[in-house]
Amino acid sequence: MKKDGHTHTHFCPHGSGEDTEKFILKAIELNFDSYALTEHPPLPDSFKSLMPYDEELISLLAMQENDLDDYIKQMLELKSKYKDQLDIRVGLEMDFLPDHISWTENLLNEYGKYLDETILSVHFLK
Ligand SMILES: [Zn+2]
Repeated sequence: MKKDGHTHTHFCPHGSGEDTEKFILKAIELNFDSYALTEHPPLPDSFKSLMPYDEELISLLAMQENDLDDYIKQMLELKSKYKDQLDIRVGLEMDFLPDHISWTENLLNEYGKYLDETILSVHFLK
């Protein structure tokens, strides 16, 4: 099985901005069986407020709060559109935020029903 289990989308504020559908078409062309969309969900405000960076830099780390619904909707549309050609897995790349476990649980409780798979990353260390 040929699989990419960790990809980003046009919702990534530090990515190329290129349309996700182009990546999916390329994966189909390259005979991938499975392709996981694992975008960074928004970070909690209570976490961002503790970061020693300016707002502009912080805004590049993950999608904004109001982008998450659009992300899920657009990725589910792509999954459906290409379902006969590629197993598109809608997911998220969750950050391990040890002081924000309940925030993470709440997000997954709300959006988990739309997700096929989610990866857990450590990008932030104290
Ligand atoms: Zn990533």
